[in-house]
Amino acid sequence: MQNFQKGLKGRYVTLQNIDPIIKDLGDTFCISEIGKSFLGKSIKKIEFGKGSQKILIWSQMHGNESTGTKAMFDLLKFMENPGTLVHLRNSILEHCQISFIPILNPDGAEQYTRVSAQNIDLNRDAVEQTAPESQILYHELKIFNPNFCFNLHDQRTIFSVGRENKPATLSFLAPSTEVNREITEGRKVTMSVISGIKSLLDDFIPDQLGRYTDEFYPTATGDNFQKAGYPTVLIESGHYQNDYSREVSRKYTFYSMLQGLNSIVNGLEYCDYKDYFLIPENKQNLYDIILRSCKLNDEKTDIAIQLVEVLNGDSITFEPKIANRGNLKAYSSNIILDTDRTSNLIFNSEENLLQYIVDNLSIQ
Ligand SMILES: [Zn+2]
Repeated sequence: MQNFQKGLKGRYVTLQNIDPIIKDLGDTFCISEIGKSFLGKSIKKIEFGKGSQKILIWSQMHGNESTGTKAMFDLLKFMENPGTLVHLRNSILEHCQISFIPILNPDGAEQYTRVSAQNIDLNRDAVEQTAPESQILYHELKIFNPNFCFNLHDQRTIFSVGRENKPATLSFLAPSTEVNREITEGRKVTMSVISGIKSLLDDFIPDQLGRYTDEFYPTATGDNFQKAGYPTVLIESGHYQNDYSREVSRKYTFYSMLQGLNSIVNGLEYCDYKDYFLIPENKQNLYDIILRSCKLNDEKTDIAIQLVEVLNGDSITFEPKIANRGNLKAYSSNIILDTDRTSNLIFNSEENLLQYIVDNLSIQ
């Protein structure tokens, strides 16, 4: 991918990775520190464009959800070097004013945790705003007064779409503003942006797009921003076949943001908000691995394995854990092991079984 910012890859993305790239950005971009995390790490914003459509984008409010950050920097690279899409780049600069906050939770990013250093889930801190990181985001929202927001997250590998239980490589949500999930004008605008993104991604991953439940979460950021009148697109980057480092979903997250901007620049003319409802709802019908009808401690059973991400030095390794057992016919798995004659397999302990997985697993 020519737009990949090569300085960023894999799942573990921290300030150490993005700071040198920010330093090298050209003078199209205005960089400033907007505050510090609980542990005193710098939180920055990167601004560009002079237009009337103001767009606020932030990533990694959950520290271990880095795909959106990688895609953000791919978008910055595109702005510097748009290739054949120079017209689109120019019209984004002309019509939009964009404020990027990469890695809102730098303490969590470094520890590779979802929560902040104070053990706060920033995406459930919208009402109390206890965490300094939440206060920074709200302050930026207030002074910038954006027309659109993009809230970038990662979803786990358990999310599936469609009858074949393919992984949901990207999922979207136009959050509700009340328990009754009313389709307000603001939600229609948000849905229109997502419809525009869907129309592009249907050419690439038509059966791997999911829609999140629009159940109202009273303390979630997106729901509260939407309620306060800021159309907020939630993008959840997820799994693509054999892509545990999330470099494929990174590409589609980048496409999503670029297409979102393209639609906004064009006044959302060709985006019918109702197409949003054509995106199937997410299900949770996937495990990373399923050993079917194996024998564990003399009992014949299906065993589902989830791979747990573990920070080791400066990279992430994946450790198998037993997530479910019993009749798992309704579930599919992301990985098919090379040695898939699992019905002949006999394990005399869970340790034994997990070691078998480790020995037969190769993760990219
Ligand atoms: Zn998240």
